[in-house]
Amino acid sequence: MIVGVVGGGQLARMLALAGYPLGLKFAFLDPSPDACAGHLGGHITAEYHDHAALHRLADLSHVVTFEFENVPAETMTVLAERVPAYPPAAALAVAQDRLREKSLFRELGIPTPEYRAVESVEALTAAVDSLGLPAILKTRTLGYDGKGQVVLRDRAKLAAAWSRMGGVPCLLEKMVSFERELSIIAARGRNGDTAFYPLVENVHRNGILHISRCRAGHPLQTQAEDYAERLLQSCDYVGVLTLELFQVGERMLANEIAPRVHNSGHWTIEGAVTSQFENHLRAVMGYPLGDTAANGQAAMVNLIGEIPEISELLAVPGAHVHVYGKEPRPGRKVGHVTLCMADDTRLEAALGQVLALIDRR
Ligand code: AMP
Repeated sequence: MIVGVVGGGQLARMLALAGYPLGLKFAFLDPSPDACAGHLGGHITAEYHDHAALHRLADLSHVVTFEFENVPAETMTVLAERVPAYPPAAALAVAQDRLREKSLFRELGIPTPEYRAVESVEALTAAVDSLGLPAILKTRTLGYDGKGQVVLRDRAKLAAAWSRMGGVPCLLEKMVSFERELSIIAARGRNGDTAFYPLVENVHRNGILHISRCRAGHPLQTQAEDYAERLLQSCDYVGVLTLELFQVGERMLANEIAPRVHNSGHWTIEGAVTSQFENHLRAVMGYPLGDTAANGQAAMVNLIGEIPEISELLAVPGAHVHVYGKEPRPGRKVGHVTLCMADDTRLEAALGQVLALIDRR
């Protein structure tokens, strides 16, 4: 069985690493000849809108999926005409437009930060009048890792902020004073069965995910599962879906979804009974979903821009190192370390050691 993957980055690579034990083979479509998943299967080097290349991928695959959400929704529609393709193109289209995404949350009764759609500097001024400052201006499309957004604190600087965003359609969001950022990773199989991983607490640095900690037993777990379930059912979803949330007291506000395996779920490779990558493959293949329980205490640290000395990382108790095979570059995700321990005290100690090795450089 061959799984076609649109995109050949680290998520595609980790999908392949999870799929080989199940007897699956892989073909990747990615415009970059250096795509880091390329060593793990066939690689079609082509643009995402190249129909001939999409037809080739569809014809050699039994099922097709994607690994990042800026794949044109049309790409998945073209593929779905020839081969089973999951998650559905409709979920991709929602995740690509912050206004559609927030509107869907509202329709499904999932609370969000207050927001307004803005398409002109006048609309921005009116939105600031209504929501107050500080607020965050975000482009509706093509934002990720903190890109395509600016924090507004000063009424005098609205016009400058608007022109900095390039005058494209945006969303203005009220700035939420959250206690922590959480994410829930959910999976839905072809038969409609669902499964949910424990909530994860995420810490960002320079707009990029830095540390994720599994928070099994979190008091808001049931609420988060309910929100994720509504999203999965609303679009007959198949595959892994991630919902990012802000915790404010006993409430959670939905920030965004990722219709794919997610960086905040990398800890599941060693820290859960079944990894998010295996469960995504089980879902799209129509296999039963695997157990999502955590094995113990787990945390993940991203390696950004460069890889510390591997032997030093591996000397940390409970550390598992993942290197993606990408050329190191500032701000680029080049690997991660997962820490798994029986208890929280030892986990925190090991985490401190890994952070010291990263920050020493
Ligand atoms: P996003 O691209 O929407 O995920 O935003 C990137 C990061 O900006 C989030 O992980 C938060 O740390 C922060 N952020 C986004 N929206 C808000 C908000 N409405 N209030 C406070 N912080 C936010």
